[in-house]
Formats: sequence, structure tokens, C-alpha cells
Amino acid sequence: VVNVALAGRSYEVRVGAGLLDDAIVQAREFIAPWSGRKVPVVADANARRLHGDRLTQSLATNGHAIDWYEVSPGEGSKSWAELERLTDWLLARGVTRSDHVFALGGGVVGDLVGFACAILKRGCGFVQLPTTLLAQVDSSVGGKTAINASAGKNLIGAFHQPSLVLADTACLATLPQREMRAGLAEVFKYGLLGDAEFFARVDQDSAAILACDNAVLEPVIAHCVGMKARIVAEDERETKDARALLNLGHTFGHALEAETGFGDRLLHGEAVALGMVLAARFSARRDLISLADAESVTEALARAGLPTEISALGLDCDGTVLADHMRHDKKAGGGTVPFILLRALGEAYVARDVELADVAAFMDEQL
Ligand code: NAD
Ligand code: ZN
Repeated sequence: VVNVALAGRSYEVRVGAGLLDDAIVQAREFIAPWSGRKVPVVADANARRLHGDRLTQSLATNGHAIDWYEVSPGEGSKSWAELERLTDWLLARGVTRSDHVFALGGGVVGDLVGFACAILKRGCGFVQLPTTLLAQVDSSVGGKTAINASAGKNLIGAFHQPSLVLADTACLATLPQREMRAGLAEVFKYGLLGDAEFFARVDQDSAAILACDNAVLEPVIAHCVGMKARIVAEDERETKDARALLNLGHTFGHALEAETGFGDRLLHGEAVALGMVLAARFSARRDLISLADAESVTEALARAGLPTEISALGLDCDGTVLADHMRHDKKAGGGTVPFILLRALGEAYVARDVELADVAAFMDEQL
């Protein structure tokens, strides 16, 4: 159990195998008020098919039934159209501000439901039941919620914290290896940004993590959640540098995602892996770390089967195009783009003196 302590309010993130089978006990205080009415659960279609029965059975032990709302898998569901359909559905069910809605799925469902609950009657409660590695270590914790706009990803959103997060590691057994690896990139990120020892441990254990060996997986997820909880407690709304460090690899990665169309060609986590390699190499180029250190990052990610060379993407663009995507980054402002760079492995910082022309030249070398 990790506690996310925020000013005036806090919530628990529980990590463990089989938590969904025990949901009726784990989430009792948020389920009990639904007595006599069906419990609204918004679910990714795959997550429902593979793990919905466990939730249904757990709730049935106390006489509760579920009203399912299914969301099609994929980034396309973080849309205005889906948000409207979902909020209409929640209103039709008479959800009030004191009620809790349940979100079962990966980051797509978590972000969509979180945002719907942030604006429904000016804010109702929600419980996250993350079913992907990425959602368990990152997106379900911290209260960033959003849908996508035509101008870019996650541009319409709100800060709205869940009341409880149940990360059932047993869900990960059904996750495709490629999705598992993408989540592992975010796990490496925690080590690289603030804990070199953890980075080495993840490198050592990457095969066991990918194989869902719970004895390894559970403490690793809990460690990531613990780090995120500390960062969010210090800087809930990203007004200081602390939370920005979580964007390590993301400015570079985002440009690659934009260029590849935010789809199956390059998953978010894969883009983050490439972005971390680029951030490490760019840090070496600026003499912040050694080239050997930068390449040790590359090698660890490669050992875990993550992509590390953007030349392999076969992008049909030059460095200026990629740098231009970074200019439009949500965190950009006042003509500068903050970059998360490395002072050492396990020590990231926010660099505000990076010229995009320099980044473009660097990207040209990498392409
Ligand atoms: P996702 O939600 O799209 O899920 C990935 C795939 O796995 C989907 O096809 C889904 O159907 C499937 N799936 C889910 N659970 C499964 C299971 N247990 N077994 C088998 N298949 C399963 O992707 P994601 O990687 O979880 O999340 C990505 C989203 O998260 C992006 O939209 C990103 O913007 C967002 N995100 C948000 C935050 C935040 O702080 N709010 C942080 C990082 C990422
Ligand atoms: Zn990410």
C-alpha cells in the first residue's frame, strides 16, 4: 500500500496479485453506496473480456451487480465524442457528486473516466482499476486526466485525483508482451530520473518483469508508485520542477509519436524508450554525462527488447521537423522548450537553456 498524501486529502494505491478478486473488500466504502443500484464500471473491452468476471464475482458476494460501459481499445477513445457518450450515460444513471465511478483498463480508460468524473456535476469520485503495466506504474496515479484534441494529445483535461487505486498485478499476465515492454520503459524512467540503483535492478530483472513473475513485479510496481506518490505530493500541479522530471524522454518521444501518428507503429512507451536514449545522448553531447554512461542506458533498454535507435524507424523527415514537434509540446511556453536532461544516471534536471536549433542538428545525426 502506497499513500498519496496531498494537501487536505490523500488516497491509497494498493498493489498486489488478485486485488480484483477482492474488490468488494478493498473498495467497500466506494461500492457500498451503490446498494440497490448497479455499480457503474467503465471498461476497456479487452480488460472487461479478460478480467471483468473477477470483478463481477467479487461484487456479487455482497449482492452487487455491475452496469458495464464498454470503451473500444485505442487512443481514439480519448475523444470529445466518447466523452459526451460517457457523461450522458453517467447522468442517465443518476451519478451524483458523492458517488464513485470505476475505471477498468489501461491509461486510455483511466484518462477518459478521470476527466469525465472531473467535470460531471463539477466533479464526482472515481476509483482506478488499472490493467496495464503503464497504467499501474504511471497513469492511474497522480490525477492527470485528459482527452485528445485535434491539435494534439492530452490537450483537454483536468487535475482530478482518484479516491483509490487498485493495481492487480494478475491482470498483467494477459497483457501482450509489446504492451508489457512499453510499460517497462516507464519503469526504467523512474530509475533513470532519480534512482540509479533501481535502474540497475530493473535492468537485472527485466526478463522476470516481462514474464510477470509476481515476486519481482509487485515490489517493482510498488517502488514506482512510491516514487510517483512522493513527486506528486511535492508538486501536484507541476508548478515546480519536481513533477516535470517525470517527463524524462517525453519531449523527444512525443516528437516521434507525432511523426508516426500516435498509433501502433510506435507505442507511447516505445517512444519514451527512444526518448530516454536521446535525452542521455544529448546530455553526453553537452558534457553533462559521459558517452559511456549514455550508451549504458541504451544497452539496458535494448536488453529489455525496447527500441533504441530512431534510424530504425525509417522516418521520412529531418531533424528540424522533429524539433518543430517539440516546439508545440504542451510544456513549451515563452519560446523555450524545457528539456529533462541527465546530470548523472539517476539524476535528472530541467534544462531551460536548450536551443531547438541544437536539438534539430542532434536529431539529424541520430536519424
Ligand atoms: P491502453 O489503455 O491503450 O491499453 C493498451 C492495450 O492493452 C489496449 O489495446 C487494451 O485493450 C489492452 N489491455 C488493457 N488491459 C489489458 C489486459 N490486462 N490484458 C490484455 N490487454 C489489455 O494503453 P496504456 O499504455 O495503458 O495507456 C496509454 C495512455 O495513457 C495514453 O493515452 C497516455 O496519454 C496515457 N497516459 C496518461 C498518464 C497520466 O498521468 N494520466 C501518464 C502516462 C500515460
Ligand atoms: Zn509516459
